[in-house]
Amino acid sequence: MKIKDQFDPVIRKKIRTTKIAAVIPVGSLEQHGPHLPVSTDSDIVTKVCEKISEKNNFLLLPTVNYGVSYEHSPYFNVSITKSTLSKILADMILSLEQNKISNVFVINGHHGNIDALRTLEKLKDFSKKTKVFTFSYWHFMSQEFDHAGFVETSLMLAISKNVNMKKAVKGFSPGNISAKQRQVINKKASKSFISVTKNGIWGDPRDANSRDGKKIFAEIVTNLEKKCQTCLTGKSPKLHQ
Ligand SMILES: [Zn+2]
Repeated sequence: MKIKDQFDPVIRKKIRTTKIAAVIPVGSLEQHGPHLPVSTDSDIVTKVCEKISEKNNFLLLPTVNYGVSYEHSPYFNVSITKSTLSKILADMILSLEQNKISNVFVINGHHGNIDALRTLEKLKDFSKKTKVFTFSYWHFMSQEFDHAGFVETSLMLAISKNVNMKKAVKGFSPGNISAKQRQVINKKASKSFISVTKNGIWGDPRDANSRDGKKIFAEIVTNLEKKCQTCLTGKSPKLHQ
């Protein structure tokens, strides 16, 4: 159920009669090369969450469209700090708790948000009876994730019309390097993505296509909903009615 399209009595009845879980998608607003919109992370995570909510009778909240993307500077990004993001989410979860929703999935669509989600898990703003599960969607696909490369561009081609493949150019590719070198590059990229990639793209989007995007999308949805159900059924088998 998409909360933003619903009416108060319907939502309250749903909460009263079902032990419902809520889903909060978290994205970002940042450069994704010349061929993908700045809303890419938010767009993908929103679609993933729409799908799992639809299939599992979860309450879908509107996406938090801002994330921690300072590393993309001087390219375009509108960012909030880690502490702001974790506080926004903590406040939302506390408010959900006051509305008698005590199972919350926070599904992340942007790498730079991970620290904020870790902090969230440690914040004690909400009570212990509220169970909060945080996941990043790319951990539920077999392909290695990129930034505006083959995987992310294919996902966008599968879910959006707002892709300009004529503008797609090859980006940075680390090639065959040691795990140690990889760590060094990742660390540098997390501070300045542009100094590592030069053009803001990690990977090569030129062969991206919606057929592969649909396959990757389906894999993410299947694995993630399985994970969510495991989280819920482990504690309360009554959750999915
Ligand atoms: Zn992205």
